[in-house]
Amino acid sequence: METDLKKRITLPNCPICGQLEDELFKLFSDLPQALSYDEKARENFAQEYGFCPFHTWQLAAFYSERGIAKGFPPLITALEKYLTDAVKNETLKKQGTTLLTKSKDNCRVCRLLQSEEKDSIALLADYLKTPAGKAAYSESDGLCLQHLASLISVVKSDDIASMLLTHAIQHLLEITSDLITYDKKNEARQRHTCTKNEKNAPRRALNFIAGLKSISFIP
Ligand SMILES: [Zn+2]
Ligand SMILES: [Zn+2]
Repeated sequence: METDLKKRITLPNCPICGQLEDELFKLFSDLPQALSYDEKARENFAQEYGFCPFHTWQLAAFYSERGIAKGFPPLITALEKYLTDAVKNETLKKQGTTLLTKSKDNCRVCRLLQSEEKDSIALLADYLKTPAGKAAYSESDGLCLQHLASLISVVKSDDIASMLLTHAIQHLLEITSDLITYDKKNEARQRHTCTKNEKNAPRRALNFIAGLKSISFIP
């Protein structure tokens, strides 16, 4: 994971978001196949009562309707059994809604990504203590503002926190300048003269402020 992160920091966008997106895509590229053809995977999915709403829809985006028809029946049966039991049981009736309302605490994908996020931020905090880490970070796009806040809370160094904030300010200024130029060139029907950074400026602004869309569920 350490090597992945060092490579990630040289690529566009927030390296923590990138790392989490890789994990997410790895899981979702294998899971539809498993849910369609592996009975044990289907049973596990049923026993955990599926995923949170955000990850259920993300899974569906990787899935065909035939795949859902194959993979979901045990989950639906488990949900139906849970509700049937709840009808006869006062305690279950009261707790039922909390269990069925899936959240980050009882969604496997949320938990996996939160753990990966915590580990990656700790690794990056260590890397930033080295000259090589500082140099790599200053050359990078830096962390999105969501992950920047988490990183600053674990670096425990005023100097590194100041470096991270100064880098973020610089990056915001660059994006703002590219957004303004992008808009002006579009207004003058000169879009074809935009540089690559100017063309990507709206997406870069969103990625930097909110983090990558695929993992933007993390509170
Ligand atoms: Zn991020
Ligand atoms: Zn989730």
